[in-house]
Amino acid sequence: MRIVQKFGGTSMGGVARIRETAAIVRREHERGHQLAVVVSAMAGETNRLLALAHEMDEYASPEETDVLLATGEQCSAALLAIELQRLGLKARSFTGAQAGLLTNNSHGRARIESIDPGHIVAALDDGCIAVITGFQGVDTAGRISTLGRGGSDTSAVALAIALKADACDIYTDVDGIYTTDPRIVPEARKIERISYEEMLEFASLGAKVLQTRSVGLAMKYRMPIHLRSSFHDVRGSMVCEEDEDMEKACVTGVAYNRNEAKITLQGIPDRPGIASGVFAPVSDADINVDVIVQNISEHGLTDITFTVSREDYPRTMEIMHQHCADMNAKGVAGSDDVAKVSIIGVGMRSHAGVAQTMFRTLADGGINIEMITTSEIKVTVVISERDVDKAIRLLHQAFELDAEQA
Ligand code: ASP
Ligand code: MG
Repeated sequence: MRIVQKFGGTSMGGVARIRETAAIVRREHERGHQLAVVVSAMAGETNRLLALAHEMDEYASPEETDVLLATGEQCSAALLAIELQRLGLKARSFTGAQAGLLTNNSHGRARIESIDPGHIVAALDDGCIAVITGFQGVDTAGRISTLGRGGSDTSAVALAIALKADACDIYTDVDGIYTTDPRIVPEARKIERISYEEMLEFASLGAKVLQTRSVGLAMKYRMPIHLRSSFHDVRGSMVCEEDEDMEKACVTGVAYNRNEAKITLQGIPDRPGIASGVFAPVSDADINVDVIVQNISEHGLTDITFTVSREDYPRTMEIMHQHCADMNAKGVAGSDDVAKVSIIGVGMRSHAGVAQTMFRTLADGGINIEMITTSEIKVTVVISERDVDKAIRLLHQAFELDAEQA
């Protein structure tokens, strides 16, 4: 089989860890697989390099910042190749450019345009283990680019697709994706198979195991991802195409994100164009708006409440205060002590009353719901941050997620 393996920063965090990672690579090599190994920078290295750039100049250009950040992965790829060679294996490292990974020129968050894996294929056919720097590529002008934080996952999936790999194994310090955060609910269970769509919801809600873009890419090209532990050689979670079994359970997991803030614009005249008037300056500032609720108007006036991530809260409040007068709004209010809790599952499409079970469970627990939003496979509520742990525990129980899988 041809396998793409990806190792994150913890697996590359120093000489000792790199030796352990090399042992995993050797194990899979001895099983007879062709291996392309994508690596992240050593844990903490990307942050260290970013801080250096900022120390030099707060406004360091994105192009040079990319050149700097790309060294993190180059360092760990070379070290892993050195260790593999020390073990007597044939190995060599490749930068993103050498691996033929071409991106657009949005430095710092570049998108992959194409991959020409010729050199990698040649190395693999030659019996060589190819070690490839994650997170980076080269733009059409020949400049080094990076794919955004956590981008090595996306490099790995994209390479797996380009190499027509049989599997994309992503090794992390957890052994898969769980029905919820085991630190909050010790009874949380590892999900054996999860659909791309569900994983996309988990990832975009802030489950840090996979970069959201990597899941979108895997879904588009139907590349299964095996999320597995770098500590134990056991099956982790398969992120793959939906099947009938997945629909049997109505809820697959409970996800949450504490990194939320909400803002309310009070008493704005309810007429065509208000939503655009409120959100245009926010999107111009490159701020992502998430949940939005507009109230029914009374005497021609309405309220609009929306959420943004907590780091964008001060700037969004500033923008709203600036635009309050233009929109003839009566006032702006906000708080940054809210959080999002979601139940996710493709089974929701075929089970009725799932949202109602969620609402009743929270009500019985005395938890106030501030906002609600739904999709075909997800119900999200915005609640006070202090209720998050309790909400998760109650929901996990209500949907019998700690029970044995049917
Ligand atoms: N080293 C990069 C980061 O820390 C990319 C990655 O680890 O996936 O964001
Ligand atoms: Mg990562």
